[in-house]
Amino acid sequence: MNTVGRLTIAGLGPGAAELVTPEVAEALAQASDIVGYGPYVDRVPARPGLTLHASDNRVELDRSRLALDLAAQGRDVVVVSSGDPGVFAMAAAVFEALEAGDPAWRTLDIRVLPGVTAMLAAAARVGAPLGHDFCAINLSDNLKPWELVERRLRLAAQADFAMALYNPSSRSRPWQFARTLEILREEKGAETVIVFARSVSQPQETIAVSTLAEARPEQADMRTLVIVGSSTTRLIVRQNAPPIVYTPRRCDGGAG
Ligand code: SAH
Repeated sequence: MNTVGRLTIAGLGPGAAELVTPEVAEALAQASDIVGYGPYVDRVPARPGLTLHASDNRVELDRSRLALDLAAQGRDVVVVSSGDPGVFAMAAAVFEALEAGDPAWRTLDIRVLPGVTAMLAAAARVGAPLGHDFCAINLSDNLKPWELVERRLRLAAQADFAMALYNPSSRSRPWQFARTLEILREEKGAETVIVFARSVSQPQETIAVSTLAEARPEQADMRTLVIVGSSTTRLIVRQNAPPIVYTPRRCDGGAG
């Protein structure tokens, strides 16, 4: 076939339609095929001429190969992720498949379109908890040993980073978040601010602001993004509105 295919790896944002960038909306409107995890593919409106390829969550490499194959056949393929596709999501999976796969795939037109990642949507909801240095850690040990997660948590706590914790808990990983709280309590003060932002920008959204001393493992599930403050992260308490959580831009030394 002499048609030139195209592969776009796009982020759909945290859920709300208003948080899909115009660039991503345009790519979806032009696509012939959408490839992704079922619930994300469901966010793309059906229309004549558009083929939806929804798959299970654990088959990222198969899904990536399918997308590359379709693009090689001349299709205009969009691989969708929630949030940003480069943050614990499909972009790296597609490049892993590209690196190991058919050399002809390297001639394809491939682009990555950013999206609003969960930590930014969650941070904006409560104020500016990521206003100073921070890091993002994926708590899932599906693709790395749990010991490495523990080591990174401890070192990030000792360096006094604020932290955005993705994938805190799921049915197949029931104890990891309880252990995360234990480690953080060993390394950080009891009054450290912690935010549980669940289903941000979706109708079921809930936001809870707490402290490390009071946080409970059940407050996090697979739809929750957890933000742990640094030693300078603080609350601005208000009468008729939830507290604002922010981390000042200036830090004069600090814990660690
Ligand atoms: N690529 C996605 C992250 C995929 S990992 C992004 O950039 O946001 C999946 C994890 O992201 C979830 O376990 C949760 O921690 C977080 N997440 C994704 N969407 C979310 C939302 N709307 N609200 C809260 N957390 C979300």
